Amino acid sequence: MIDRREFLKNTGLVTLGTIGLTKSVSALIQEETADTAKTNLDEELIPVVISTWKHGIPANEAAWKVLAVNGKALDAVEQGVRVPEADPNVQSVGYGGLPDRDGYVTLDACIMDEKGNCGSVACIQNIKHPISVARLVMEKTPHIMLVGDGALKFALANGFKKENLLTKEAKEKWLKWKKESNYNPKKSNEHDTIGMLAIDKACNISGACTTSGLAWKYHGRVGDSPIIGAGMYIDNEVGGAAATGKGEAVIKIAGSFLIVELMRNGKSPQEACELAIERIIKNQSDYKDFQVGFIALDKKGRYGAYSINNGFQFALYRNKQNQLLDSKSFL
Ligand code: ASP
Repeated sequence: MIDRREFLKNTGLVTLGTIGLTKSVSALIQEETADTAKTNLDEELIPVVISTWKHGIPANEAAWKVLAVNGKALDAVEQGVRVPEADPNVQSVGYGGLPDRDGYVTLDACIMDEKGNCGSVACIQNIKHPISVARLVMEKTPHIMLVGDGALKFALANGFKKENLLTKEAKEKWLKWKKESNYNPKKSNEHDTIGMLAIDKACNISGACTTSGLAWKYHGRVGDSPIIGAGMYIDNEVGGAAATGKGEAVIKIAGSFLIVELMRNGKSPQEACELAIERIIKNQSDYKDFQVGFIALDKKGRYGAYSINNGFQFALYRNKQNQLLDSKSFL
């Protein structure tokens, strides 16, 4: 059992990126809880978009453009995560992503809307925007998940173009890695999925998750990100959650689904993220050697974030402010 006091000792700081202030996470959460209690559906907490890591900032900007004009959360999350997918400097998502051990860039993505519809692609190659293919799987097929060549065939049949996603920089890193071929996914920091959750003005929630997965993985390896309930999960009655970090650890606990169910049973988004990390720590003895981070949003617009190791950041956009925040962490 993890001692709850241990969690409370970890009083992480939040950096309000745009104005340079710091606040304790618990103070922020308390304020939010009080605000929410006052008005229940506080307009100021909604619309909102939250996403993982620093590349969440430009992604949130794109999502906000949709939310600000009364657009749908589903469109917002798709437009949002397309930004890092297209950015060659983001080496963990889409174009520019680091390849597997054989030099192939293989991408995983999933999307889910407020009705519980979902779509996903796994191990797809040569398509810059797997999130949009995932959306089409959701909207145009009787299925939820397409993988590998089948996913590529479906994308090409629906007008997507085949592109080389391996940039010069990513190829150089791979060639350097190949010299040693020292694969240690536990220690690797060469990964950073974008997971995004948004609530629109109509108070509907949707989510998206997209990644090139762990660098130097086995060819064919699929992580948590395209797996509904692991990398991301949405329930319009409750809220949503998304994961980043070592996918194998997240799949083992069905992380995002677990967080949504904990919120359904009365936990705040912050408590739910902490309990999911606690579950990993309890069951996976090597937890100190890898990173997992969760973000969560409930239907009132309250958020939570928590990770095993420090260094996990997430981006929160609401009230016309897009902030990069430091998550609390167990270690
Ligand atoms: N969760 C992703 C995966 O395991 C990687 C990451 O988020 O960094 O494929």
